[in-house]
Amino acid sequence: MKIVAGNWKMFKTIEEAKAFFAELATTMPPQGDKVRVLVFPNYVALGALAEAHAVPDWVLLGAQDVAADAEGAFTGEVSPAMILSTRATHVLIGHSERRHVIGESADLLHRKLVNSLVASLIPVLCVGETLEERNASKMKEVVFGQLDTALADVRLSDGAQLIVAYEPVWAIGTGVNATNEQIEEAHRLIREHLKQLLGAAIGGFVAILYGGSVKPANFASIAGLPSVDGGLIGGASLKPVAFAELIAIAEQV
Ligand code: PEP
Repeated sequence: MKIVAGNWKMFKTIEEAKAFFAELATTMPPQGDKVRVLVFPNYVALGALAEAHAVPDWVLLGAQDVAADAEGAFTGEVSPAMILSTRATHVLIGHSERRHVIGESADLLHRKLVNSLVASLIPVLCVGETLEERNASKMKEVVFGQLDTALADVRLSDGAQLIVAYEPVWAIGTGVNATNEQIEEAHRLIREHLKQLLGAAIGGFVAILYGGSVKPANFASIAGLPSVDGGLIGGASLKPVAFAELIAIAEQV
């Protein structure tokens, strides 16, 4: 099964989000269980979409962030229970924009991940190296470090409780996607490390997505790689036509 996940970042008002799904609903839903579709709107749109029943039932929803605590005096934060009170089931943790632009620490991301798991919200843990780190041959060190800190002392009973997205920072929003060889190498390393951290059975089951300048023109080649369980897609997920194309491609690989 392949996962097609759209990260809308800080785009789309409530009306724009509803219009997106109204148009997507006119396209052919994925047949059978070959493809799972996930969309991560902003919090405001997430609440409104749930209230208006505006999302086709074949699309799962997620939040782009979550608080590190369950409840309390944390102005501006949104808890797992609040996210679950919409139709959302998933949450992005450690997207590169939150690590590198907002400045979230590895420890904070670990607390967010644990807080989500406790509430049965499925984290999509994003990992990936910067261009400087890749050029210094530090991809493995950086990605393993991000997995180690985020998953420290985490025990899962089922590999479906977690998704990992490999997103090299230099490929996000740049139009330059990683090569198939770079993706295969990173995914193979991540798979081995997940097995070490979580046990062979569970670590072997966790889905690993690729993200970074995925578009209809390159998705068949990327999603067809044996180590790739799907894509986390930013820019190309904002237009219903392109997103529907990505879903159709995932069905065919
Ligand atoms: C992302 O936001 O996770 C992403 C991969 O963006 P883009 O597809 O635009 O590179």
